[in-house]
Order: sequence, then structure tokens, then C-alpha cells
Amino acid sequence: MEAVVSLNSGSSSIKFALFTLGPDGPQHAAVGKLEGIGTAPHLVARDANEVILVDRGWDNGAALTHEALLHDLFAWAGDHLPDHDIVAAGHRVVHGGTEFFRPLCVDDALLAALDALCPLAPLHQPHNLAAIRAIRTLAPELPQVACFDTGFHHELPEVSTRFGLPRALHDKGIRRYGFHGLSYEYIARALREADPVLASGRVIAAHLGNGASLCAMRDGLSMDTAMGFTALDGLLMGTRCGTIDPGAVLHLQTQEGMTAPAVEALLYKQSGLLGVSGISSDMRALHMSDDPHAAEAIELFAWRAAREASALILSLGGIDGIVFTAGIGENDSVIRSAICERLAWLGIAIDAQANTRNAPVISMADSEIIVRVIPTDEERMIAIHTLAALVPAGDAS
Ligand code: ADP
Repeated sequence: MEAVVSLNSGSSSIKFALFTLGPDGPQHAAVGKLEGIGTAPHLVARDANEVILVDRGWDNGAALTHEALLHDLFAWAGDHLPDHDIVAAGHRVVHGGTEFFRPLCVDDALLAALDALCPLAPLHQPHNLAAIRAIRTLAPELPQVACFDTGFHHELPEVSTRFGLPRALHDKGIRRYGFHGLSYEYIARALREADPVLASGRVIAAHLGNGASLCAMRDGLSMDTAMGFTALDGLLMGTRCGTIDPGAVLHLQTQEGMTAPAVEALLYKQSGLLGVSGISSDMRALHMSDDPHAAEAIELFAWRAAREASALILSLGGIDGIVFTAGIGENDSVIRSAICERLAWLGIAIDAQANTRNAPVISMADSEIIVRVIPTDEERMIAIHTLAALVPAGDAS
């Protein structure tokens, strides 16, 4: 049975999913995560019925690289899913710059061009590309497809792509791109199936995970988004600061004597929920804490999300619905209701019971805005794109 593997490779984890190719599109065969890379690697994978297929660690695993662990993952798939013939690997690649937006088969020239974009996504892009290189070594003949997180925002209206910087810098690529595109593209498709009328209207999708952003969609297309040039922009996140006065960044360097790498570490890894609470980047841990700083971080998260949403509503000229997704968006009824309370001026009325159940629709029947929860599936979107990219031009019919 032919199968496609989707990979989302980060600094210390690799999320993956194996899909078989059925007449109704890709079907989950296994989904899992390799965590703790560099410290204590751990692999868990489940089948489509949530049955655990593998749950293992490695003795003295701290020295194992992404490549070594991917080797073990492929070996495990070969041993335990022998009737699955992997015909392609698809990858989430965070940044495609201005040049790359459609999913593309990877070759040497593309890899070199994507390497050049690493400074635009220093914490993500190198790891995305490392996984591609590792699989090239392990399985040189296996076709690989790069799927860009910026791609969904490729046709943003010109006004939402510009900073107030000199034109020459915009033309050099210092502009707003937007991220979480694979998630938003999946949400747009899923919403069209669940609620075609809302999908054709004005919707704010809220991807609230460790990384968090919003996307303003009209008729399923991105009109504006909370992240801009890098994945630092917009909402408060697990460890990232979100939008900050650029003057503060200059001040850190000129007055606090911080080097550029120290500022980078501060803004990407030590800020956000972690920095404000001083406790954790994990929303569940903050809910469990009775420290007032945890409550302050939660309040800031919700306020910033509602404030950004209000700005994006302007880009849509109004709003018909909100869709929550990702770890916090799908599971955290307290945060959803805190955000919606701040948007009550829109005529949102939340059904508290439906919200607590993480139901597909959490707004009251008479709410002026429909509020939905849709679990995202970036890996499925990668698999769909990977299959499409493998079809030679002209065979698409
Ligand atoms: P990533 O960006 O790493 O993919 P996720 O989408 O998994 O992140 O989101 C991680 C966040 O979601 C964490 O803050 C975590 O606390 C939160 N989260 C995950 N599951 C739940 C849950 N059941 N209830 C509340 N928060 C949750």
C-alpha cells in the first residue's frame, strides 16, 4: 500500500504522520512525535484509532541527532508497517520568502535558496531543512516536497504586506509574510465542509498553540494576519514576545548592552507566557498555578489576542465568524471565553456548556457571530500538497 510521510521538524521535536493513499484522499495510518531531541529523545506513535504503535526512549540518547533519530523512525516504520510503501516525504518549511509559495519538489537549487532564508526564521527553518537533508541521506531516491507556511498568505493585499520602511527595503524582502499557513489552509478547507456559508464569509481563524497567530480570511483566502516578517510578531506566545515596540529592541542593545544573539534568545525563548509569568510557557501549567503572575500572563494572552482580532476585523470590513484551533484554541475553554468576552461588543454570545465540551460550535444560536472549534491537521495538508506536487505537470486532470 502506497503511503506518504509528513514531517514537521523543530529544534527538539519532529512531528510526523503517515498517510495511506485512498480514493477519498490521504488516510491516517500513524501519527506521532519524536520529542526531547538533544536531551532524552522519546518516540510515540498511534494508529488512526489512537492505539499506541510505539512508545520508546533511547539509552544515552542525548547525543543522537535528528538524522540518527529519523533513521530509527524509518527503520521502525519498515519493521512495523511493512505493507506501507513510503513513496514521498512532505515537509513543513516555515519560510518561502517572496519566491516560493506553491509546494515544490526539493532539489539542490531549492535547498540552497531555502538555506538563504534561514535568517528570517532562525529557530525553525534550519531544522526544517535539516530533516530534508537527513532523509536525502537515508533515502536518496525518495521524492521530497517542501510545503511553505508562508504560502497561504502569498496573495495578501499589498497594504498588509508593507512596513513603514523605505521602499528599497520592502523590495529586498523586509516585509510582512505571515505564517501558520498550512494550518489556516486546512482550517479553510475544513470550514468549507462544516459550514460552507460561513466559509464564504469573513472569518478570523485563531491558531493558538506554543506559537500563536490569527488569520483574517474572506471566502477562504488570507486577507491579513497577525504575524509579519518573522514568527515573533503578533500575539503573545509560549516563549515569544509577539508585537513589541521596535524602540524597545534598540534600547536593549544600546542601553542594556545586550548583543544581537542575546536579544534574539530573549525575544524567541525567554519571553511570552514564560517571561511574563516567570513560571512556564505551557498554558495548562499556568492555569494550575495560583501565582498572580500566572494570572497576569493569561490575562495578557487573552487581551492581546482580542486586540489583534479587533485590528484584523478592520481588514475584513466586519466579521461573520471566529474559528479556534491548535493546542490552546482546541482545548482551553477558559481562554476562548476570555477572548470572546473582550469581543462581546461584536454581539458574540458564547454557550458556556458547548464551550466547556470543546463542541464544534460554541456560540449561542442567537449570537451575531458564529464561533467554532476545528482541530487543525497541518500534517494532512502537507500530505495533500505532497501528492499534488508529485503529479507531473499536465497529468493533474
Ligand atoms: P505547538 O505550537 O508546539 O504545536 P500546540 O498546538 O501543541 O503547540 O499547543 C501547545 C499549547 O496548548 C500549550 O500551551 C498547552 O498548554 C496547550 N494545551 C494543549 N492541550 C491542552 C488542553 N487539553 N487544555 C489546555 N491547554 C492545552
